[in-house]
Amino acid sequence: MNIVLLGIQGSGKGSLVIELNRIMDFTLISTGQLLRNEVATGSKLGKHIYELQTNGILVELDTVISVIDKKLRSVTRDTIIFDGFPRTKEQLLALDKICTIDKVIYLNLSKNVAIDRIINRLTCDSCGYITSKRRYNSNVCPNCGGHLATRSDDTIEGVNTRFAVYEKETLPLVEMYRERGILHEIDANRSITDVLTDFLKVIK
Ligand code: AMP
Repeated sequence: MNIVLLGIQGSGKGSLVIELNRIMDFTLISTGQLLRNEVATGSKLGKHIYELQTNGILVELDTVISVIDKKLRSVTRDTIIFDGFPRTKEQLLALDKICTIDKVIYLNLSKNVAIDRIINRLTCDSCGYITSKRRYNSNVCPNCGGHLATRSDDTIEGVNTRFAVYEKETLPLVEMYRERGILHEIDANRSITDVLTDFLKVIK
């Protein structure tokens, strides 16, 4: 089964994936993380991606498709979850050429809650684990022992740019997938446990 996770930054897509990892087998294609992996190599392309990510600007389609292609070559599991892709109509059409999407899960969250979550977010450099400064007071990742920090784009300025891009480019995809009859909406204002319960019902 091929699943797309849609939702504003901070809607809990990353946290949901972490919870799912404990209970089911799937391949995660998180374009944000794949691009951050390229940044970590220190390559020229990585430096270019870092600039775009820090400023909340979308990375060019060719680059995004190339990191996805590379990851897809190693897929061995039956379920693929796309997180952070597609983000534009152009990317949605590109994804149609790569594989058939069975279900799109839209985590619907109000903007105010999203801002609060992002500003307090701590992310692990190594494994992508996400937690909140509100409930975790250390820079050591409880998942892998790596380094937990605020992402370079998790600033008020970065968030505002990303939200504007999200509203203009990504939100229209919700209606496109709804028209295809494969969209499932989940209220993401609730706890991760409630969101996980609904997600499991939808994909069963
Ligand atoms: P995320 O980790 O999903 O919040 O993504 C962080 C940043 O990575 C975004 O603000 C973009 O700069 C870049 N990015 C992630 N996914 C995509 C995508 N599908 N298309 C273009 N840029 C992306």
